[in-house]
Amino acid sequence: MLQLPDKLFIDNEWRDGAAGRRFPSVDPATETTIAELAFADTSDVDAAVQSSHRAMRGPWRAMPPEQRGALLDRLADLIEAKKDLIARTETLDMGKPLREGYANVARSVRTCRYYAGAADKLQGDSIPVGANGFNFTLLEPLGVTAHITPWNYPFANACRSLPTALAAGCTVILKPASQTSLTTLMLAELCAEAGFPAGVVNVVTGSGAETGTALARHPLVRGITFTGSISTGKRIMAYAAEHVRPTVLELGGKNPQIVFADADIDAALTQTMRGAFTNAGQVCTSVSRVLVERPIYDDYVLRLKSSIEALRIGNGLDDPDIGPLVSAEHLDDVSRFVTAGKEEGARLVTGGSRPRGFPKGYFLQPTLFADVRPTMKIASEEIFGPVLSIIPFNTDDEALEIANGLELGLTSGVFTRDLRRAMRFVRELQAGMVWVNEWFMSPVQVPHGGVKESGLGREQGLLALRNYVQVKDVGIRI
Ligand code: NAP
Repeated sequence: MLQLPDKLFIDNEWRDGAAGRRFPSVDPATETTIAELAFADTSDVDAAVQSSHRAMRGPWRAMPPEQRGALLDRLADLIEAKKDLIARTETLDMGKPLREGYANVARSVRTCRYYAGAADKLQGDSIPVGANGFNFTLLEPLGVTAHITPWNYPFANACRSLPTALAAGCTVILKPASQTSLTTLMLAELCAEAGFPAGVVNVVTGSGAETGTALARHPLVRGITFTGSISTGKRIMAYAAEHVRPTVLELGGKNPQIVFADADIDAALTQTMRGAFTNAGQVCTSVSRVLVERPIYDDYVLRLKSSIEALRIGNGLDDPDIGPLVSAEHLDDVSRFVTAGKEEGARLVTGGSRPRGFPKGYFLQPTLFADVRPTMKIASEEIFGPVLSIIPFNTDDEALEIANGLELGLTSGVFTRDLRRAMRFVRELQAGMVWVNEWFMSPVQVPHGGVKESGLGREQGLLALRNYVQVKDVGIRI
């Protein structure tokens, strides 16, 4: 039996919530409650923020950057040493196949090491102002930062912005999604073990409506990094405006993969399958619309059908191809899209129902709709599940028009052997990321984020360090 954390983590200590409220965490494969977690109300959130604020004034403030980097390196070592526990807990809590849990942990280690090396490379400018003076900029940490994360990559998303903020000298308060809080609590304990002073990393668990709102609206929070849905992102932006705080918003997408007849079709199919069904399609950057050039369209549909029907569904701990969805509510939401697809006249090629042999758990067959029109609900709204729409197109212009026709722009991809065509799409696709002949090309050193309603700002890479500093300009008259 795994020993699971179930309290708030504040000031490097485990604490119950002030009012003693609790909420369940459920294994989506079996529908059993695996833990009852402490619920942080407004007073608990205030205690976490005050602790973080104190830490900003303590030894953390004076710690040289290379020492902050050394702590991040130590954190990476500790995560690596605990990888079995973290990966298994992530799978138990979220449902993803175990190998994906391991891959998420490995990525998190890599992120910690990347920013460990970056901590002493954040530097300002020296600006010429003439012979009688000097001018230079200091990059100062923002202070207390709130990191609100979704349920699809609980550990990796916490580890996407936490190391960046710590490298820049900020303190961090994490608010994980209520469905999947366990591994974020484990992360906080490892931060304490690594040697981060009390208050530098705190975790408050509870609902978005109460715990998340109290955190995002707290006047001592100096910056917010939010990963989640567009509707919540808009609310976060409004909360941040109350105290004029910078925000990074990593939101949803409806990502098009455009496949031309001249592409390496085997490679394109492999990437469609990987892009659409990794983590049961619960990925912000998943392929959710595949646009296929007319001459290869019928064949592509048939080949996708047989690949999808060969996918092995199961409990994430058995490492299947595809696990359950995260919760009963989410299964209902995704199932409503399947119903809408049928009602709007798309052709259900395969899937769409609960798989046989799974009386329990939030399972849905991987699903393919063909002959989808761009205006249909399944082709224009984020589904965030294993439901793929395939849309035929005839010309380059038509493909671009369909791809760019939504107010979403997280990522996109084009598959072709024609370099001139690829470069035209690179320029004209409206998205924060464009991938050519492969999917999921977003290692930690490259910027990640969207345009239009898919987000604001970028995580990852050196650019992201700027999210956590403010510029102070210094002028000196001699
Ligand atoms: P969500 O419902 O917006 O929730 C995200 C986080 O915000 C959760 O911790 C949630 O807490 C909290 N929250 C909800 N309402 C809040 C409020 N009023 N104030 C403060 N916090 C609040 O999103 P989700 O369903 O968890 O995640 C799926 C979405 O995330 C998809 O749209 C996906 O595309 C997006 N996503 C984007 C990226 C990216 O990098 N661009 C990465 C991963 C996911 P509770 O869960 O406790 O309500």
